[in-house]
Amino acid sequence: MSTPDRTAPTAPPSRSLTVLRDVRPWGGERVDLHVADGRISAVTPHDPAGPAASGTARPADDPGGADGVVDGRGLLALPGLVNAHAHVDKSWWGKPWVSYGGEATTQGRIAHERAHRDELGIPGVDVTLTVLRELVRHGTTAIRTHVDVDLGLGLRGIEVVREALTELDGAVHAEIVAFPQDGVLRRPGVLDLLDAAAVAGAEHVGGLDPASIDRDPVGQLDGLFTIAERRGVGIDVHLHDGGELGAFQVELMIDRTLRAGLQGKVNVAHGFAVGQLPASRQADLVAAMGEAGITMTTVAPIGAAPLPLHALREAGVAVGLGTDGIRDLWSPYGTGDLLALTTQLARLSRFRHDDELVAAARIATADAARFVGRDVHDLVVGAPADVVLVDAENVPDAVVRAPRRALVVAGGRVVARDGDVLV
Ligand SMILES: [Zn+2]
Repeated sequence: MSTPDRTAPTAPPSRSLTVLRDVRPWGGERVDLHVADGRISAVTPHDPAGPAASGTARPADDPGGADGVVDGRGLLALPGLVNAHAHVDKSWWGKPWVSYGGEATTQGRIAHERAHRDELGIPGVDVTLTVLRELVRHGTTAIRTHVDVDLGLGLRGIEVVREALTELDGAVHAEIVAFPQDGVLRRPGVLDLLDAAAVAGAEHVGGLDPASIDRDPVGQLDGLFTIAERRGVGIDVHLHDGGELGAFQVELMIDRTLRAGLQGKVNVAHGFAVGQLPASRQADLVAAMGEAGITMTTVAPIGAAPLPLHALREAGVAVGLGTDGIRDLWSPYGTGDLLALTTQLARLSRFRHDDELVAAARIATADAARFVGRDVHDLVVGAPADVVLVDAENVPDAVVRAPRRALVVAGGRVVARDGDVLV
């Protein structure tokens, strides 16, 4: 394999592609990726004599007046990053520093957020656009985002997020979880709001610590599963509760998933308990999750017991990676860089071998297709043309260094280049 040119690829601003020339998908041989209607239409061995890059293409390669040919210059290509657990409706990214002032408990953080979100313009289209652009800049092209739904906001947050997504014109593919951040049963009326969100097009209804927040795990979960069955949406529950209390709630979800035939549509977010259980208890729970088609998302938090990723994979439990909220009223941390978070996931999981590092990259990309409602999200024919180019020798090198994203393509359109967002 020849050494890639160390300069940035050439690309016109936010322009639709016809060919992304000379890239190395997953670090393999150099190929040309052909694009039609926003999807990868062909993958051919790189042809050095093929159409030249921007500005020098022959007229025959120039339908519609733009050549649409971009030279990837031999860089490593990955599918667009999939942020499977985001909160793009609430952040103060781009605003002056906000010192954290809440108590360090889940309830304390909820109260702090309720008290101060208005003064930060949360939720707001500008806030959400700023976060989304930060995600795009770092190579994320698809997200599953939780959006707060509560008695104060109603469904306004979801409307705001949809407006911001429309403004980005397809640069980010998104699925929305209507998220009851302030609890469900303890706030009468919230279940109705979640139902209304599902009717209005939210792909999933969320939940929050059914035991420790609502103090009624059976009640909250029965409410969520009733909506999911009635409206045909998924379920995605934030579960911070650890140990046996958390495991018990996972078991309640397994029972209900099997009973309702919702295999593949129920996700446990965080699920710290799964990482904390004794080995034999953990093995049994993971196996039961696999049989019920339950999935998990993690934000690779420092200090938490890492999820047993190998065991989860062997049991068929898909795991997605997400940023969680970035720079919000819960925490000042987070940058929106999912590849850097992949480094963190790999380190927390004590990954060293190449196959483990590649598995981490797949969690953040191709293997996360299901978390954003896609059948396929990879550098193959028929997949959405979502591509990230990085200057790395191979995938393990990209995972441990998280180099700058040289080019980001979403739906066949160049949306970021060298850290600059073009949408
Ligand atoms: Zn979250």
